[in-house]
Amino acid sequence: MKQISTFGSSSYRISDLQLLRNSDDDAVIARLLAHCPIMLLDADEAIAESNRARLYILLRGALWVASDTRSGMADGTISKILPGESVGEQSVLDEEANLSTTTALEESEVLVVEADIVWQLIDESNVLARNLLRLLSFRIRAANAQLRRRQKLGEFYRQLSMIDGLTGLYNRAWLNDLLPTMVATAHGSNAPLALIMIDLDHFKKFNDAHGHLAGDEALRAAAQVLSGALRPTDFAVRYGGEEMMVLLPDTSDKVAAAVAERLCERMRQAKVFTDMRLPLPHITASLGVSVLRPQQNEHDLIATADAALYRAKELGRNQVAA
Ligand code: GH3
Ligand code: MG
Ligand code: MG
Repeated sequence: MKQISTFGSSSYRISDLQLLRNSDDDAVIARLLAHCPIMLLDADEAIAESNRARLYILLRGALWVASDTRSGMADGTISKILPGESVGEQSVLDEEANLSTTTALEESEVLVVEADIVWQLIDESNVLARNLLRLLSFRIRAANAQLRRRQKLGEFYRQLSMIDGLTGLYNRAWLNDLLPTMVATAHGSNAPLALIMIDLDHFKKFNDAHGHLAGDEALRAAAQVLSGALRPTDFAVRYGGEEMMVLLPDTSDKVAAAVAERLCERMRQAKVFTDMRLPLPHITASLGVSVLRPQQNEHDLIATADAALYRAKELGRNQVAA
């Protein structure tokens, strides 16, 4: 970066500078800018770091500004600066170091305005002050929009991390997040909350007989039975391995038992493969039902369903116990 002239001795005009466009008193501004250096940057050359805050106005060429990733705003946003536009106004105003890197995309000429001159310009020119405010407000809007985009993306990934990849059911992380709230809501509103624990029968043997991939397919089929049989207010969760869980808000013992019977029957009829391979693998499940009691927390609710499930297994599998 080397100085090639000053603004006063160059052929550039104040109207070339966006911040000063339509200014009220060109003579005063011209006097203040007269001794500001114009620097030449080769292509790919970066603006040399300065420990003083400065405003850089591009006169010719193109620059790109890569925002700093150390700033916590962690974006690595890149913006292109065209002739007439400026960089560094914010660090002049808040006297914080400018942490972004500015590089010339092609050979460029840059007007360098030291902070004290910028302040004098602000004092002298209402138009400059106004343009500066407009520019800053534009930058704030752009930053906010980017923040919103990132928040949305974060929410998307958060939701994605709550879904089991194989079955599409909610996963354990979702359960840990939501079940305490559901239990508290049920206690608060005195509405029954039912839980059905489902475990596929002899699934180890199923894998051994048909292979692990067929096992995965069977798990998907089982998950489809659950999601296909539930009301919009119910939730199906893959609790782990071949164990699944259904949460039924506002559901009594009797209704929950009936739902469990229906799920058990549909598991029996579920088609793991739609083709006619022989022997056609099929699945059965054992189900345990529990309904939240007044003194119970979420762990008690799960333990009660687990105990019922164990009884269903003991009684010969492929059935419901409460
Ligand atoms: P039980 O009737 O007593 O439940 O017998 P089981 O064989 O189903 O019980 P166990 O819990 O001993 O075995 C569960 C099996 O489920 C073992 C494991 O290989 C299989 N399994 C767990 N997760 C997956 C999975 O994601 N895909 C496949 N293919 N198999 C799985
Ligand atoms: Mg099992
Ligand atoms: Mg199991």
